[in-house]
Amino acid sequence: MSAQLQENIAKAEGYLARFKENTLGHFINGEWTLGSGETFDNTTPLDQSYLGKVAAASVEDVNAACEAAAAAAAGWAATPGAERRKILHRLGDELEKRAEEIAMVESMDCGQALRFMRQAAVRGAANFRFFADQAPEARNGLSLHQAEHTNFTVRSPLGPVAVITPWNTPFMLSTWKIAPALASGCTVVHKPAELSPLTASILAECADAAGLPKGVWNMVNGFGAVAGKALTEHPAIKAVALVGDSATGKMIQAQTAQTLKRLHLELGGKNPVIVFDDADFERALDATVFMIYSLNGQRCTSSSRLLIQSGIKDKFLAALKERVANIKVGHPLDPETEVGPLVHTGHYDKVTSYFEIAKQDGATIAVGGKSLRDEMGPGNYVTPTLFVDAKNDMRIAQEEIFGPVLTAIEFDTEEEAIKLANETVYGLAGYIWTSNTGRAMRMAHAVEAGMLWVNSENNRNLPSPFGGVKMSGIGRDGGDWSFDFYMETKNVCIAHDTHKVPVLGR
Ligand code: NAD
Repeated sequence: MSAQLQENIAKAEGYLARFKENTLGHFINGEWTLGSGETFDNTTPLDQSYLGKVAAASVEDVNAACEAAAAAAAGWAATPGAERRKILHRLGDELEKRAEEIAMVESMDCGQALRFMRQAAVRGAANFRFFADQAPEARNGLSLHQAEHTNFTVRSPLGPVAVITPWNTPFMLSTWKIAPALASGCTVVHKPAELSPLTASILAECADAAGLPKGVWNMVNGFGAVAGKALTEHPAIKAVALVGDSATGKMIQAQTAQTLKRLHLELGGKNPVIVFDDADFERALDATVFMIYSLNGQRCTSSSRLLIQSGIKDKFLAALKERVANIKVGHPLDPETEVGPLVHTGHYDKVTSYFEIAKQDGATIAVGGKSLRDEMGPGNYVTPTLFVDAKNDMRIAQEEIFGPVLTAIEFDTEEEAIKLANETVYGLAGYIWTSNTGRAMRMAHAVEAGMLWVNSENNRNLPSPFGGVKMSGIGRDGGDWSFDFYMETKNVCIAHDTHKVPVLGR
């Protein structure tokens, strides 16, 4: 074990001690509470050891959080945008101060390699700062002229909203959702994923330290079927922003039907990376490897299907095999580690089940396809895996595996590439590699996805829209799209007193 890893483990133990010693509660109306007293154990995917007890919210606990958010809604909506901006920048400062703690706790809680989590707090802070800067103008609308009337639009915050987040990059995704909600003037009840609850509590502490008024930010821990369901059904909640599985999105659509809530669903994907013969070989190779094996492949925008053109297939797959076999699997706090343990035993079982499914389907396991538990102990370690000789109708090409597992499929023509790319229920992201600009443009229009990157890996740009089509979701985050979701638009129409008013019954 390197000296650096030893040092990181010692530091992480220090940060985790309070979670091990005290039950992690809910943050409701500016107070930490254990609520109804039900708890569950949190463990680390590193070796399944204990990370502490977490309160599991009951319906009553969730109701209390929703009522706190409702009570605080008018005050926060009336707080001038410039003041909200100041508070959210202070929140960014708080996150940056605790960057190392956030990175290490996140790595230990969900198994993500520290090399990727190091930026989590900085990115989270950037999310708050970006949306904070737009808070003063968020209510502004449009002026729409007619010959005898002038229309103008104004926006107002929706009120209390629910933010429900998954376990894959829980900290970053939570900030990405909560920052625009608060900047819009909405109050929030956040329910983090039960499999990775720790950094959400640090977020709530930072919000408190930044001076957010009581009840503006509430956080309840617990399970989707109880706490998540109660939150989505509560009549005070005006909108639900979910990042999660497509099946969960469907459930939430049904759960919110009776109270007719606005929904933003960011769901699963089976994203194609399409590499043409004329692609920049090395850059396409780097990006293909990065987009499926970074973040343990537990990434909604991961390029989990490689569509490779026949002319370079052999050369590309040979280079790819070498890279994949070389990826360093290890302790998430080891600075050398590229792939850490999968988040949970249940998810490990799901990912490893595809090793057998691939064989049954008739694909070839070119690299990996193994659990590493024999070599690395009880953690959820698997080998980075590459399936070749695959067909697009195989389960390994259609189902979201959500691990460090890539399925490669050969194609000949541009038309075939489009057909394969679109033959999936999902439509989150796609990646196109070609040096032919016309083809890049044609592909960008033809591939059914909310986001397409041409000759690039997933590049973050906060003003750009982020979201999917088909089973990958409804709605967009980013820039003004986020404000539009968390705000209601009202049209005001003013007559110039020149038009003829229709007359009845005179
Ligand atoms: P999940 O759907 O199981 O859980 C997400 C959240 O929903 C959790 O907090 C969970 O407790 C809650 N939940 C579950 N059932 C609920 C219910 N009936 N009512 C209310 N809340 C409920 O997802 P996960 O396994 O934590 O995360 C992985 C999934 O998230 C993958 O499918 C991945 O693609 C997706 N994801 C999508 C994006 C995106 O931007 N499109 C980003 C990251 C992850």
